[in-house]
Amino acid sequence: MSHDPACVFCGIATGAIPATVVARSDRAIAFRDLNPQAPTHVLVIPLDHLTSAAHAGTGREAAATLGEVMRLGVEVAAQLGLAEAGYRFVINTGREGGQTVEHLHLHVLGGRQMTWPPG
Ligand code: AMP
Ligand code: ZN
Repeated sequence: MSHDPACVFCGIATGAIPATVVARSDRAIAFRDLNPQAPTHVLVIPLDHLTSAAHAGTGREAAATLGEVMRLGVEVAAQLGLAEAGYRFVINTGREGGQTVEHLHLHVLGGRQMTWPPG
């Protein structure tokens, strides 16, 4: 596993920083967002440090990591009872994407009606 010692989400991935973990797999971990924007707001991250989607690459390893992050998001959404009513996946990427934590994360938001367009 490759971790950045200065990265908060790497700290959560290793257990050095506490979080409310809701699911984990061999490549990814899901935990509650500290500042929830919906009744259910979970973040899914790869265990390995990956700065953003733009840094993921496009090869097989990227496919496995990105696929596993989304797969675990689907699992968590079902586990938390969101599947029937629906939910939203968001991956903010880079400055204009509104990304504030530089470790790739999938937001899983649910429990209220979402609106479009996003802010
Ligand atoms: P983004 O703006 O897409 O980069 O989202 C970063 C998210 O990380 C925000 O929703 C924050 O509330 C959340 N966040 C930051 N630090 C923590 C933490 N230590 N534990 C859980 N969520 C966090
Ligand atoms: Zn990291």
